Amino acid sequence: MRFLPVFLDLKAGPVVLIGAGELLRAKLRVLAAAGARIRVHAIDGNHDLGLGADDAARIDIAAADPLTADLSGVIAVVCAGAGDVGVAMSVRAKALGLPVNVMDDLEHSSFIFPAIVDRGDVVVAVGTGGTSPVVARRVREKIEALLPARIGELAEFIGGFRKSINERIAEFPLRRRFWERVIDGPIGASVLAGRKGEADAALKAIADPSAFARAGKPEGAVALVGAGPGDPDLLTIKALRALQDADIVFHDELVSPEILDRIRRDTTRVAVGRRVGKPGIGQDAINKRMIEAAQSGQRVVRLKGGDPFVFGRGGEEVEALRAAGVAYSIIPGITAGLGGAADFEVPLTYRHEATRITFLTAHKARDAEVVDWSTLNDSRMTVVVYMGMTAAPAIRAGLFAAGRSPETPVGVFARVTRPDAQGAIGTLRDLPELVRRTHGGPAILIIGDVVRHAGSLRRETSEKTPKQIISDLLDAAE
Ligand code: SAH
Repeated sequence: MRFLPVFLDLKAGPVVLIGAGELLRAKLRVLAAAGARIRVHAIDGNHDLGLGADDAARIDIAAADPLTADLSGVIAVVCAGAGDVGVAMSVRAKALGLPVNVMDDLEHSSFIFPAIVDRGDVVVAVGTGGTSPVVARRVREKIEALLPARIGELAEFIGGFRKSINERIAEFPLRRRFWERVIDGPIGASVLAGRKGEADAALKAIADPSAFARAGKPEGAVALVGAGPGDPDLLTIKALRALQDADIVFHDELVSPEILDRIRRDTTRVAVGRRVGKPGIGQDAINKRMIEAAQSGQRVVRLKGGDPFVFGRGGEEVEALRAAGVAYSIIPGITAGLGGAADFEVPLTYRHEATRITFLTAHKARDAEVVDWSTLNDSRMTVVVYMGMTAAPAIRAGLFAAGRSPETPVGVFARVTRPDAQGAIGTLRDLPELVRRTHGGPAILIIGDVVRHAGSLRRETSEKTPKQIISDLLDAAE
């Protein structure tokens, strides 16, 4: 982050505004609407700034040269349409330690203006680090649409009671629950509906605020949340809400950093996963810690790659939670196989060509008791293999033994839905080689005729389309 979003106290002193023309007038309108005191230097000498009578008290038209004018007490310097004077002003302001913005000139700005959503006490500032105000405006529109119209009134309402509730509920987590219960319940609804008097009376009628807070959330709970294969935009809305609500998150190693970024800042995060070659804390220990956290009243999220119920040991965790009598919920996620199919445009079923799908873990591929290869011999079955990278030779041997043709199309899709996703396709005969070509996991394997329909392979160096690759291989085999 180059620019930290902060809120400037406009009561602390005047803002000096320097510039000319429409750019100057536009910036003046922004600052005036925010309620700033403004000292304007119109360097083209045109003092027709389109000011209303109300503005006169807060806006001074300065005659002095801005480069030598007294800046003591000034809280910020803003240049809009000031040309070279803006650059010189920037040097001067920086020397004095004053925040300065030169419009459309990041190099000479020490602060920038965000796009603003203004709902009274609730103000949302959207920035793009100065790179793209258009994107900031789009984000602002989305937020505008999302926020209830009276959200500012709700903030003001809470502000009015904050001191007295702080005095009556000492513990911070309980206080947070108190306000959450107020906001989510009938009192919040009354404020948002414009019935403030009713809300006021209802809040004052709460005799024991601590008891009220406890009754709202009697105990903690665990949400088993599927994080999907990596792209944070593939989180469900429910998953996102759970991440924003959680007091503590136990997450797998496979969960991408972009997704961990969506967790509330003050939430405790605990990495519990295993990775190839690196042991985790163990399933029993994970269960124990989740249960303890929930029993102490925390909202716990157990965040898992993909879907919790697809090779994710979610079943065992649910059993442990049931046995402990802890409340839980399950929020599904997009499993890696589906993420990979979409990312590389491989339809898992296809009219008459592929009429069923098997999701298989190759974790114990060498153990015939665990994987019965003979059930996979149907050529119209698409086989999606998890944890199949090191087991690639065993998978190939197993499918050959089941009677699958060496010419069966195969795709290896690594790091699906992430920016560094990569695929390699060929035939079953080349499976171990295809795995090597994707440069590291995690990867899923998709085996079956449908792989012919694959779309792009991203970083695959080959110029050929997936269809060509497979038909060339088949030709060579004939
Ligand atoms: N519960 C997870 C699977 C966990 S098992 C889910 O539903 O996706 C771990 C295996 O998932 C990895 O060995 C790999 O085969 C697959 N996997 C997970 N994330 C992946 C990704 N981003 N790209 C490709 N494969 C992935």
